[in-house]
Amino acid sequence: MTFIGHMAAGYILGNTFHACGLPVESIVITTAASAAPDIDGLIYFAKKGKITIGDDFAHHTWITHKPIFWLLLSIAAFFGIRLAGLVLPAQYLYLFLAGVLSHFILDCFATTDGIQWLWPVSQKWTIITKIEASKGEWLGKYLKHKYLRVEIAIVTVAIGLIILNIVT
Ligand SMILES: [Zn+2]
Repeated sequence: MTFIGHMAAGYILGNTFHACGLPVESIVITTAASAAPDIDGLIYFAKKGKITIGDDFAHHTWITHKPIFWLLLSIAAFFGIRLAGLVLPAQYLYLFLAGVLSHFILDCFATTDGIQWLWPVSQKWTIITKIEASKGEWLGKYLKHKYLRVEIAIVTVAIGLIILNIVT
């Protein structure tokens, strides 16, 4: 899934939590968290100085695509904020982790390598739908893959919710 699809999924997730009675901040937190692991792409593009994906873009092998990294970072940030004297509802931590979790679940579909859920304990990759391609070829193949329809549906629902949130 692309960065746009991940954000759209996080937006839908946040709206769902909000509809279930959680605060409106849920939408912002899950939207940001659902895109957070792909921050590595922005760093990659910044280092390259251009927005192109080469075969060296193996970002699912990088620490930013390891669930344990986000779990530990979130917990450390949460308690760090508390130590700084600020009170942050525990709910925010759970919402952030839910957004990140959605990212990793979606990264198991239409992927060349999937996610190592239990890294560093296990090196096993979880792939639900595989696209055979080099890293540089992935986007071109993904844009022709049937799974793209799922991303388009997710983005369409998110746009509908944005419009609904603006008019109501
Ligand atoms: Zn990702």
